Amino acid sequence: STKTLIIGAGGVGNVVAFKCAMNAETFGEITLASRTKSKCDDIAKNIKKKVGVEISTAEVNADSVPELVELITRTEADIVINVALPYQDLTIMDACRQTCVDYLDTANYEHPDTAKFEYKEQWARDNAFKQAGIMGLLGSGFDPGVTNVFCAYAQKHYFDEIHTIDILDCNAGDHGYPFATNFNPEINLREVSAKGRYWEDGKWIETEPMEIKQVWDYPEIGPKDSYLLYHEEMESLVKHIKGLKRIRFFMTFGESYLTHMRCLENVGMLSIEPIEHKGCKIVPIEFLSTLLPDPASLGPRTQGKTNIGIFAKGIKDGEPKTLYIYQVSDHQKCYEEVMSQAVSYTTGVPAMIGAKLMLEKKWYETGVHNMEEFDPDPFMEELNKQGLPWQIMELDADATLEVKA
Ligand code: NDP
Repeated sequence: STKTLIIGAGGVGNVVAFKCAMNAETFGEITLASRTKSKCDDIAKNIKKKVGVEISTAEVNADSVPELVELITRTEADIVINVALPYQDLTIMDACRQTCVDYLDTANYEHPDTAKFEYKEQWARDNAFKQAGIMGLLGSGFDPGVTNVFCAYAQKHYFDEIHTIDILDCNAGDHGYPFATNFNPEINLREVSAKGRYWEDGKWIETEPMEIKQVWDYPEIGPKDSYLLYHEEMESLVKHIKGLKRIRFFMTFGESYLTHMRCLENVGMLSIEPIEHKGCKIVPIEFLSTLLPDPASLGPRTQGKTNIGIFAKGIKDGEPKTLYIYQVSDHQKCYEEVMSQAVSYTTGVPAMIGAKLMLEKKWYETGVHNMEEFDPDPFMEELNKQGLPWQIMELDADATLEVKA
C-alpha cells in the first residue's frame, strides 16, 4: 500500500497530517516526523481521537541528508511532504533524489544567513530529479500554491491573455495579543521587513519595505489596508503566464502589527546577524521568535476570516475582461475541524491536495515543477471538496476592488 512521510510538525504539519489521515485511502500508512518528536506524538494522539486513524511518528533532523535518507528508506515512503522550514528544502530534496522518492513543499528555499527568497537552487535540481525519475512539486500551499492554480484556471477558462494580476492576501483574524505572527515568526518577519518588489514590463521594480499601500475591499471582510510585498509565486508566474504585463502582491497588516514591527526593527530585534551577548552569540530575530507566542497556540483564540485571491485583467475574444477568484476561510471553523487556525489550514490543505494528485498520477511529470504548470481543474475540484471552497466574480472590464482615498 501507499506510504506517506510528512516532515515538520508545526501549525502546517498538523493540518497536513490531519487531512492526509482524513484521506487515508490515498495516503495509506502515514508517518509524521520532525525535530521534536513529542510534537508529532501530540498530533498523532489528536488525529486518533478526532479522525480514528493511527499514524506513526519519528524524530529527524532535516538539516542532515544522511538522517533523512535513513528515515525515507526505513518508512518506505512513496512521497515526502516537506512542511518543515524553508531552510530544509534543499536537504530534503537531495535526500528524495538519493532515495528516488517524490517531493513536495510549500515555501521556497531560503538560506538562514541571507534573507533572500528565490527558486534558483530548487529549479537547479530539475535535471537530477528527471534522472532519478521523480517529481518535485514546489510551493503547494495557499500563496504560493492555490494562487498559482487560480492564475492557471483564469488563463485556461477565462482569458486569451492575462495582462495584470494582483494577488490579494487578507487575514482579518484577531488573536487578542498586541503582537504575534500567524506562522513561524522568523520567516514571517523576514518576509515583511524585506524590500517590496513587483514586476512590470519585463522588469522587477523594488520599493522600500511597506512603501506602497492600497485599500482593497475584501468580500465577506470589508476594506483593509494592504501593502505591496515581494512574494515568491511571482517569480514562477512571470515565466508561465503568457502576455503578462504586471504582477503585484498585496497583504493586509493592522496598525498594531506594523507599529510593533517598526519598533522591533528600529531597536535591531529583526536582525539576522548574530550579536555577542554576555559571551553568547545570539541572533536577534531567533531570540524574538522564542519570546513571541508559538503560532500553534493562536489556534484556539483566533477569530475572524481570511480571504486570499487573485484579481486579474486581460482580454478574451478581443474584449477587455476583469476576473476575481478568491477563497474565504474562518479561523474558528478551521480550528474546530483540525485544531489549527486558518493560516495553517489554508496552507496545509493545498499541500495535501498537491500530494494526492501526485499519488493519483493526475499531476505527474518528472523533474521540478511549479503549480501553474499543471491542469488546474482537478486541483480546483479538490479545493471545493477538502474544505477550501472558492468563488469567482466576473466583473466589468474597468472594475476594481481598490477603495480610492
Ligand atoms: P512552524 O514553525 O510552526 O513549524 C515548523 C516545523 O518544522 C516545526 O515542527 C519544527 O520543529 C520543524 N523543523 C524546523 N527545523 C527542523 C529541522 N532541522 N529538522 C526537522 N524539523 C524541523 O511553521 P509552520 O508550520 O507555520 O510552517 C511550515 C512551512 O510552511 C514553512 O516552510 C512556511 O514557510 C510554510 N508556509 C507556507 C505558506 C503558503 O501559503 N505557501 C503559508 C504559511 C507557511 P520544532 O518543533 O522542533 O521547532
